Amino acid sequence: MTEPLVRLIPLGGLGEIGLNMMLVESGDDLIAIDCGLMFPDAELPGIDYVIPDFTYALAKPDALRAVFLTHGHEDHIGALPYLLKRVRVPVYGSPLTIALIAEKLREHGLEDVSLHAIRPRERLEVGPFTVEPLRVTHSIADGVGLAITTPVGVVVHTGDFKLDPNPLDGELPDYESFSALGDRGVTVLCSDSTNVDRPGHTRSEGDVGVALAERFAVARGRIVVATFASHIHRIQAVLRLAARFGRKAALLGRSMERNTRVAADLGYLTLPDGVVVSLEELAELPPARQVIISTGSQGEPNSALSLIAAGEHKYFTVGAGDLVILSSRVIPGNERTVGRIINGLYRRGAEVLYEDNAFVHVSGHASREDLKRMLALTRPRYFVPVHGEYRHLLGHARLAAEMGLTPDRVFLMENGAALEVTKTGATVVTGIPAGRVLVDGKGVGDVGPVVLRDRELLAEEGMVAVAITMNADGDVVAGPTIASRGVVYVKESEPLLDELRGAVAQAVAMMERVERRDREALYNRIRLAVRQFVNQRFQRKPVVLPMIMTTDGHEPTPQVED
Ligand SMILES: [Zn+2]
Ligand SMILES: [Zn+2]
Repeated sequence: MTEPLVRLIPLGGLGEIGLNMMLVESGDDLIAIDCGLMFPDAELPGIDYVIPDFTYALAKPDALRAVFLTHGHEDHIGALPYLLKRVRVPVYGSPLTIALIAEKLREHGLEDVSLHAIRPRERLEVGPFTVEPLRVTHSIADGVGLAITTPVGVVVHTGDFKLDPNPLDGELPDYESFSALGDRGVTVLCSDSTNVDRPGHTRSEGDVGVALAERFAVARGRIVVATFASHIHRIQAVLRLAARFGRKAALLGRSMERNTRVAADLGYLTLPDGVVVSLEELAELPPARQVIISTGSQGEPNSALSLIAAGEHKYFTVGAGDLVILSSRVIPGNERTVGRIINGLYRRGAEVLYEDNAFVHVSGHASREDLKRMLALTRPRYFVPVHGEYRHLLGHARLAAEMGLTPDRVFLMENGAALEVTKTGATVVTGIPAGRVLVDGKGVGDVGPVVLRDRELLAEEGMVAVAITMNADGDVVAGPTIASRGVVYVKESEPLLDELRGAVAQAVAMMERVERRDREALYNRIRLAVRQFVNQRFQRKPVVLPMIMTTDGHEPTPQVED
């Protein structure tokens, strides 16, 4: 008998925020914890989503037995449709998480996936693993961590969590189970590192409710609350306040409507009697009786909030006496767009409260003292910080060292590594395929570095297209005609474009006829001519797109630089 060996294999989320996915492997069996996506930043122009590289999960046929979801945030469930298009495996999660993923799968035309709602403390056997969800609190309702009994012992994965002493639904974190696991022995703890830099404890969701109540009590005009559509408890708090202060509320934003409907159907959200009304009905009421709950807290263009800030919303305006509350964190990278909205709202005369100037939001992630408590409850033999950039993982590893875990028990790893655990030891191995797969429209993984570089160039330097028509002998019979985008303002630059046309025509005329019949040579000459001209006048290096049309019936052949 060989000694049992279990591998923990992060495919995403270690060394980055988002894209969370971890495999647990024993022999030929694999299960996955979460399958999340990442939203692209400005370095990935035109990309819709980033998803993990599933190569390892799909390498052995039938190895992947199931996916377990810790909660319904996009960075934990968003890549699941793309995985399920490659392999059909059952999916497990808490009831709300499963309801949210079901909606998403329907949108992707994946109707026949086997989805299973399991509740905290329900144990489930999958191959060599026994999986038990444990209640945690987070910024979405119905979050769980997972205790996975494996052939080498228990692996505890916290999922995203905070330790909220006063959650809105009364569902406290399951301290008892975490500490009972600690008593019996936890082999590996994988714990959320997102907020390791924050001292103390993360404040309670209940505190936000109290703070918002104080604002509602003195508000005289319309109240707009912007938050994440997934933050069921924050939405619940605002609905209760609307009821308490004699207001009605309308929900704005497609995801806001969908999530509240799903959560209300399952009993995770209680809609106070008669409080939620349609937009049209709300607009009929005096401002002092209106509450608008909206998406758009990240400054998304076309969201209700940005339309209101621009004075372009069909039903609502804001002005003096109105109050807008951005009850959310600004995700790094969105500061400018959110700033623009705040400025717009202030210009219209509204009062604006947001994270920097008022207490209107709490994080969904555990701060240092909470993280220490999780370590103290579970007392793991080995510790792997997860969910965070490298600095967060490192900070969490150092925190564990402060708690007395010796360096041989703490594993600071990133995607592409795996932790191999036996009954007697643990080591990190590397070389696991892991990376970012880019999703652009319907294309998965077909946009590579060259396409991205072109997009960056197009955005930064613009594009010049040059069309020439040649006959079979290599004589120019029409053109060059020139079109440009993002280089100069065409209407005011006719003389310049004439000059450029002349420069290209001259460069082509100076070629030998045989040379002109060589497509590559002709493309190169045109590119060179355009680049020299534009560079001399503007110090810019646009993407040049030569198009050669022929009079002998060939299709035009556009060429992009490689
Ligand atoms: Zn989350
Ligand atoms: Zn997360």
